[in-house]
Amino acid sequence: MRALTFQGVEEVRLGTLPDPLIEESGDVVVRTGMTAICGSDLHVYHGRETGLDLGTVLGHEFVGEIVEVGTAVERFRVGDRIVSPFSTSCGACFYCERGLTARCARGQLFGWREDGSGLHGAQAEYVRVPLADSTLVLAPEDLPPEVALLAGDVLSTGLFSAETADIGPGCVVGIVGCGPVGLMAVAAALSLGARLVFAIDWIGERLDLAADFGAVPVNFHDVEPSSVVHEATDGRGVDAVLEAVGNSAAGHLAMSLVRPGGTIMAAGVHTEPDFPFTPMAAYDKNLTFKTGRCSARHYMERSLDLARSERFPLARVISHRLPLEAGVEAYRTFAEKLDGCTKVILIP
Ligand code: NAD
Ligand code: ZN
Repeated sequence: MRALTFQGVEEVRLGTLPDPLIEESGDVVVRTGMTAICGSDLHVYHGRETGLDLGTVLGHEFVGEIVEVGTAVERFRVGDRIVSPFSTSCGACFYCERGLTARCARGQLFGWREDGSGLHGAQAEYVRVPLADSTLVLAPEDLPPEVALLAGDVLSTGLFSAETADIGPGCVVGIVGCGPVGLMAVAAALSLGARLVFAIDWIGERLDLAADFGAVPVNFHDVEPSSVVHEATDGRGVDAVLEAVGNSAAGHLAMSLVRPGGTIMAAGVHTEPDFPFTPMAAYDKNLTFKTGRCSARHYMERSLDLARSERFPLARVISHRLPLEAGVEAYRTFAEKLDGCTKVILIP
């Protein structure tokens, strides 16, 4: 099969690999219909996140059709169209029972292999899915596949962020970063009743999308976001910040926006070794700080419902639809935010 593999920092290769096989009785093999590049792939791409084996097939966002099922699989059959969350989960362990499928005792991330073990990703013609019964969701017939795909990661991550920050009716919210995760967080915050959402970035087309989703766009190259936010909140700051970047500048910015007693939820993956603020700064704001990997499987049904509501033009985050063969160049375009690139879908 054709696949995009990781070959080192900023080096992705399109190559030919053996097709995946059923390895355990709970596996299925999926023929990838569409797969996306995520901001999380960029941490690996740029070498900020290390440990991934060279030759690992990248990618963890996909929809497709089941072409082979293991003998223990009960809920799916060959020909079923599915959406996958970005990690597998057993549905039965301590963590899964509590909705923390991201920390399933038997869970694995797609596209993460380290020291020879782990799971290949989905930026390929085929992908093996372990624990298929408890991991996969049937693709809804009433949603375009590319919108359903968003529920497997970024839309669920937006919902996870907003819920984890306890956003509810009347809240004023700051979104730091208007990539796909930040944009989905705008939709999630508004769907939970936020009355005012400030969305901060510097890239024009992403800020335009945030405005289309219902946020007040704030370009941090033009204005000081904390002034804008404080002016709108009697000098207090926002009730919650959803930080969807994952670097220290974004962490600082989040801290400057949140009001005393407020919450910062960092969905951004912070690869730097230190916190962007001190314990004393957190103390002085009576801050609640939350972070972590989204339990996408736990949120997917609700994400799909939110997509079905058609309240937000979710598909507009997808700026590029390209063949898998264009994947190497697509990584560069997405990483460097060229050509208005917000989200790339690759079609094997
Ligand atoms: P992306 O790279 O497309 O978007 C990041 C955005 O942040 C860009 O628009 C960029 O211009 C903006 N930005 C950069 N520095 C900024 C700053 N100082 N202030 C404000 N905006 C700034 O990525 P994405 O796909 O939207 O992902 C965003 C983050 O979410 C990544 O760190 C990714 O790893 C993480 N993520 C986490 C989870 C999870 O489970 N927690 C899931 C998916 C993605
Ligand atoms: Zn992702």
